[in-house]
Amino acid sequence: MTATAEVSEWVRMERLSKIYPNGTVAVRDVNLSIREGEFLSFVGPSGCGKSTIFKMITGLSAPTEGTLEVMGVSPKQARKQSDIAFVFQEHTLLPWSSVLDNVTLPLALRGVPRKERREEGERALELVGLREYAKAMPRQLSGGMKMRASIARALVSKPKLLLMDEPFGALDEITRQTLQFELLEIWRKNAGMTVLFVTHNVFEAVFLSTRIVVMTPSPGKVAAMIEVPVPFPRDETFRTTSEFGRIVRSVSDALKH
Ligand code: ADP
Repeated sequence: MTATAEVSEWVRMERLSKIYPNGTVAVRDVNLSIREGEFLSFVGPSGCGKSTIFKMITGLSAPTEGTLEVMGVSPKQARKQSDIAFVFQEHTLLPWSSVLDNVTLPLALRGVPRKERREEGERALELVGLREYAKAMPRQLSGGMKMRASIARALVSKPKLLLMDEPFGALDEITRQTLQFELLEIWRKNAGMTVLFVTHNVFEAVFLSTRIVVMTPSPGKVAAMIEVPVPFPRDETFRTTSEFGRIVRSVSDALKH
């Protein structure tokens, strides 16, 4: 049994604060308990501390005060156990490597044998609908397909926690909505995987999330925690319901405070 098998809180923050050496209070007194299998979005304007929280969860930045545990251990330990994966707005694919080699890079770095790498890579590409593009080069892919490949690379390690920082921010609206739907399908197929998702887009947050953390700046803090009590699977019709409008309004109101 691993150290993470017994914990039900995937991420625990207690009075978490981060003050940068120049005195900026990026995050103040954040209390948050994130459970297994949640899809939690962080919404807020630039500068409200979303990236700082992500950096602390991944162990790239240390809190100045408070407690932060990821699956019952320190963020660095959780990262070493390959329990965390990231997807950023920039696709960060290596231009000289095939899609399959890009997707399996995390496994290659860990010394996983070639045959297993290929199987796992093909499984991840299947999940994002890019199975036939395994041998293609990144330049042959559209923006949406590059993002799918980045998501496949994150999924290849079967992470328990997937952090996504504005992943669809650079895509056109139609591609964005398609990928939102596909992401929910991937999340549902990977039962137990927790997704933490940063977005500026209130509609995107409401469509995707089980809960939304609304953040406000100066200093960065949690202004509201809003549940989205709408069952999955969700499809496009959800976007036109009165419940959707009601939750969008609550998030927008909380952002004003
Ligand atoms: P967000 O991701 O919501 O835009 P950030 O976490 O990037 O917010 O930033 C929160 C606050 O901390 C901002 O005021 C930002 O200018 C400041 N900040 C971020 N990184 C640093 C740093 N390395 N040194 C000093 N201040 C920083």
